[in-house]
Amino acid sequence: MSAELINVCYIVAAALFIFGLKQLGSPATAVRGNLLSATGMLIAIVVTLFSRGILEFQWILAAAAVGALIGAVAAQKVAMTAMPEMVALFNGSGGVASLLVGWAALYNTGNTTFTYITILLSVLIGGVTFSGSIIAWGKLSEVMPSRALVFGAQRAVNALILIALVACGVLFCLDPALDSPYLYAVVALSLLFGVMVVIPIGGADMPVVISLLNSYSGLAACAAGFAIQNNILIVAGSLVGAAGIILTNIMCKAMNRSLANVLFSGFGAVKTASKVEGEVKPIAAEDAFLILEAASSVAFVPGYGMAVAQAQHVVRELGELLEGNGAEVSYAIHPVAGRMPGHMNVLLAEANVPYDQLIEMDDINPRIENIDVAVVIGANDVVNPAAREDEDSPIYGMPIINVDQARTVFVLKRSMASGFAGVDNPLFFGENTRMLFGDAKASISAVVGEFKS
Ligand code: NDP
Repeated sequence: MSAELINVCYIVAAALFIFGLKQLGSPATAVRGNLLSATGMLIAIVVTLFSRGILEFQWILAAAAVGALIGAVAAQKVAMTAMPEMVALFNGSGGVASLLVGWAALYNTGNTTFTYITILLSVLIGGVTFSGSIIAWGKLSEVMPSRALVFGAQRAVNALILIALVACGVLFCLDPALDSPYLYAVVALSLLFGVMVVIPIGGADMPVVISLLNSYSGLAACAAGFAIQNNILIVAGSLVGAAGIILTNIMCKAMNRSLANVLFSGFGAVKTASKVEGEVKPIAAEDAFLILEAASSVAFVPGYGMAVAQAQHVVRELGELLEGNGAEVSYAIHPVAGRMPGHMNVLLAEANVPYDQLIEMDDINPRIENIDVAVVIGANDVVNPAAREDEDSPIYGMPIINVDQARTVFVLKRSMASGFAGVDNPLFFGENTRMLFGDAKASISAVVGEFKS
């Protein structure tokens, strides 16, 4: 293939990445966006393999078939709640791939000092991304304790590792021999550094860390792209790097915390919120039905528990019944409800909830006082008024959906257990709150049953 044709194909692939990313911004176009980006990646990989004469046609087809099969089975099998873990493993794979590609580029002839610097960067960032992602995966899947693991002098130890990393990196670039002991040291230290920077972060912050590691995996790929002088790898890596950091920023904003606070505060390890006590008022599905039947506006507020219960389909069914009954129905979406950004949008889209009924937190809060019934489905932290009122709370300052200001609140959950941040929720003791205990899907199904009978 001529260099011009290769670059034209790469431009097409890059355009598909960019359009795909843009379409991922809305639930209505996200599936198409994903498909566009995947097509771009397929073009990029096939052209690269052809252009360098790396593989013959039949091998590319066979590998694509095997890859597609593994991807399809994995996508079918992974639970919606385990998606962040899967993303962590993807990031880790991206990191180790960049490490290996960068390392292999050392064997190319005609490398310049710039190339050696990019080799160093891809190995270093790739190593940190790989081991950091494995720890993030371990924490989320609870293979290891999800709490923040902190010890004295942790920051000093991390600073020493970082200094050693920089020193070995400089020494490698000064004398970039194939068997340079400094490069081996960079590999080992970067893997260690990845572990050290992620262990002091609590499980509740892991999605932010995963998003950040996603950005790192992009930077590592970009550096690897420079090391092997591959334009599309540079473009793809930059896009992932930029998208990851933008997403990280959005998540931090939604929790009203700085990235530094997420990375260095040891969240979940030290702070304790005030204990909340009071009278809890349980309600049965039959009584909840009577109140909902009389309501003229109902807002569903989904959270992680809706994903666990897989209640999205019955929730949509209840929404339709309420609309048929003359009520105005909306779905209030908190940006960090669930365990990954867009988690609730994905679930509700899967259940065919109309997009125009999805209302963002900032839009629902000003009119929440006029909502007759707010139905909280397995959400906890994102509706916890302590974030507004209790300065000692670890989630103080995090914007929440102010369901406590609706006329009536139903909270659907199985027990009085706390949410992911591990803090009590005064909402459960509110004057206007009724607790509908049980699995969210079973509770909503019971209300739907009342409507139908
Ligand atoms: P929470 O984790 O705060 O609460 C979920 C609640 O769901 C639990 O209290 C649990 O109570 C209930 N639940 C679990 N299973 C069921 C079930 N089968 N039926 C009914 N209820 C159930 O979830 P939120 O969505 O409110 O908050 C998300 C948390 O994750 C926040 O702390 C946020 O900061 C954090 N986070 C999220 C990110 C994201 O991108 N989405 C990123 C970073 C952090 P019970 O056991 O009593 O049923």
